Amino acid sequence: MSVLITGGAGYIGSHTVLYFLDKGEDVVVLDSLEKGHKQALLDGVTFYQGSIHDEALLSDIFQKHTIEAVVHFAASSLVGESVEKPLDYYENNVIGSHTLVKQMVKHEVKHIVFSSTAATYGEPKNIPIKETDPTIPTNPYGETKLAMEKMFRWCDAAYGLKSVCLRYFNAAGADPDGRIGEDHTPESHLIPIVLQVALGQREQVQIFGEDYDTKDGSCIRDYIHVMDLAEAHYLALEKLRRDNTTSIYNLGNGKGFTVKEVIETCREVTGHEIPAVVSERRAGDPATLIASAEQANQELGWQPRYPELKTIVEHAWKWHVANPTGYDKEIAVNKR
Ligand code: UDP
Repeated sequence: MSVLITGGAGYIGSHTVLYFLDKGEDVVVLDSLEKGHKQALLDGVTFYQGSIHDEALLSDIFQKHTIEAVVHFAASSLVGESVEKPLDYYENNVIGSHTLVKQMVKHEVKHIVFSSTAATYGEPKNIPIKETDPTIPTNPYGETKLAMEKMFRWCDAAYGLKSVCLRYFNAAGADPDGRIGEDHTPESHLIPIVLQVALGQREQVQIFGEDYDTKDGSCIRDYIHVMDLAEAHYLALEKLRRDNTTSIYNLGNGKGFTVKEVIETCREVTGHEIPAVVSERRAGDPATLIASAEQANQELGWQPRYPELKTIVEHAWKWHVANPTGYDKEIAVNKR
């Protein structure tokens, strides 16, 4: 029996593949490589380059392999871009997932672990955010992820498809052993941007707004180690195997850091000065996002192994130093 991981060559996807391989799972990856990196796929993975829109390819994969469950990452995931191109997000995320799930139903694959997001909540009413809090997304990215979560629920009622939707807060860090890491083009996430400044690849980091209602005026986020996210996917699959029930969980550390605190931690870890300037707020950014991950803790038995921001940054830095130009130059010895 195999697990199909869509988007398995992307940042969180590839770390999850690594975790699943280390657990002895048989993994099949489907990734279009539009954003993902083939070099992020280590030995032992069966890889198909292609899209979740490709019904024939999906059908072929489901016929060739005995797929027990799907872990579904393949999606567009940039908030700003989603506001500019909502139709692309509906197409890539909602229509793509529809095609995938249609094939799952056809081939009687009954379990899916889904990569969802804190963006499903929009501007939070309560901090920390609980799974039962209102979901009113403020951008098409969050809206399309929420639409997919709802689609899975209806597919449970109709076809018995059981899902675990994992709402991540801010994924960060890299494989502690330095085998794989984070490489987006263009990069938009705070920690890799700050580390690029430390590497001399950018002159400075911009702090998007210092007039928020927070302790130092910059936004607060809950940073969660990518390998802790990876482990949560594995525990979610184990729960599906055990209980065969549909559920939704937040994944975060339950602790928030301001943008300024993140930059300061990066200075400490890297020993670089890291110049920072304050600029305008970024559209659509809530002031504070912190997860209550109590439910994942109780029901999945999930406990982050790397909760300290310093550790998260150290692991990210280790990969950035070894791979200053990311995956494309293949400086890293990228083997398990
Ligand atoms: N941020 C920033 N400068 C940057 C990139 C991000 O100040 O160059 C801020 C951003 O406004 C947010 C936080 O850092 O408050 C985390 O942003 P990121 O894009 O990493 O993740 P998001 O919270 O959007 O998922």
